[in-house]
Amino acid sequence: MKFKLPKRVKIGGTRYVVTREREHESTTGNKATINHRRETIIMDPETNQIHSLLHEIVHGVDWFLCPEKNLTENEVERITEAVKMFIADNPRLLHHLANCLDRKC
Ligand SMILES: [Zn+2]
Repeated sequence: MKFKLPKRVKIGGTRYVVTREREHESTTGNKATINHRRETIIMDPETNQIHSLLHEIVHGVDWFLCPEKNLTENEVERITEAVKMFIADNPRLLHHLANCLDRKC
């Protein structure tokens, strides 16, 4: 199954528009970039889309929780790897949790 990049992700109260931009890594030095002011996540199409999107989501959650003091890149990477591992190990649990949160069960 091919990963389909979402058009938007909601983090806290912000809906970030997710787009691909060719040469993003070569022009910025980043595989992906989240911009809180513009409410965008820009992805280089050549990067690992799942990892880079989760990485930027961790940045977004960090900024939502504490915009004045951010995690380091190393901390964001460690959390990203942990989240990937958790999702891979518990795919049914995440689906179930999402359904229950929608229904407030
Ligand atoms: Zn980062």
